[in-house]
Amino acid sequence: MSIVVLAGGVGGAKFAYGVMRALSDPADLTVIVNVGDDFEHFGLKICPDLDTVCYTLAELENPATGWGRRGESWRVMEAVRALGGPAWFRLGDLDLATHLERTRRLRAGQPLSRITADFCRAWGVRARVLPVSDQPIPTMVLTDEGELPFQEYFVRRGWQPRVRGFRFVGVESAAPAPGALAALREAEAVLIAPSNPFVSIDPILAVPGVRQAMQGKPVAAISPIIGGQAVKGPAAKMFRELGTPPTAHAVAVHYRGLATHFVLDAQDQGQQAAVEALGMLTLVTDTLMTTPQKRVTLANRVLEWLKHNS
Ligand code: GDP
Ligand code: CA
Repeated sequence: MSIVVLAGGVGGAKFAYGVMRALSDPADLTVIVNVGDDFEHFGLKICPDLDTVCYTLAELENPATGWGRRGESWRVMEAVRALGGPAWFRLGDLDLATHLERTRRLRAGQPLSRITADFCRAWGVRARVLPVSDQPIPTMVLTDEGELPFQEYFVRRGWQPRVRGFRFVGVESAAPAPGALAALREAEAVLIAPSNPFVSIDPILAVPGVRQAMQGKPVAAISPIIGGQAVKGPAAKMFRELGTPPTAHAVAVHYRGLATHFVLDAQDQGQQAAVEALGMLTLVTDTLMTTPQKRVTLANRVLEWLKHNS
């Protein structure tokens, strides 16, 4: 069963890990990852969502944070701080090796998708991880205080400014990474991970050709909003600031016309009929992935359900 998961960072990575473990062959999974958070720092190319997905699939991730590497040390950052350098974006010593080697290869003219594939091989990841595009598509956040580059908004300002909208710079002319559209077209189902709809999933869907490649096949979205709250991060705050109460139903409305299937948490069972009224099939289950086993259980439920309902 070939499956594509669309993913951002932590929420996306946890779900993608569950799907990888639920499939009998991990090579049947392609994860298409947001690149809107990518930026340059200290002259290095940083790809936070891509690295979170790869580290998680490789079981190298820091279980406490969900991002970065386990067993990480911070000697370089401390030395940078002692020099008065910027320490607002934390780069661990092991993580820095990824950024150094990726930047070196990008400068040598290699595409991000190939570098990512090689890194995954080195880390023992058998699923395929693809940046949605080899071109940078930086997300700009339109706020009350003007337009902010994504990491300025997210990390430096701790997602405090009120959002009014988003812009994915250059997306109109971005080409999907080699193999991305073919993976979508050949997939038996596409799963939209419980990632942030506005800044993790929309930048993937905005790449020309992606939505079209998903037409006519089962597309199941898992709600990142549970009981009116985001499990982590600004998704609920963003819904509110854009004028919509944050609910699983609001997430379903966001994916209307694209998702054929929608997964709500058991806490949100009361919204099931309203989501079905949007024309989607629904599954109500426990969607909180607090342990690796729960990721696999959720993925298994979703895959079994799709098998019998699509
Ligand atoms: P980021 O790029 O690291 O911010 O991560 P994502 O966009 O992939 O994921 C952030 C979203 O994941 C947030 O909106 C969370 O509510 C959601 N999320 C995180 N953990 C879980 C979980 O265990 N279950 C569900 N349903 N959503 C989750
Ligand atoms: Ca992210």
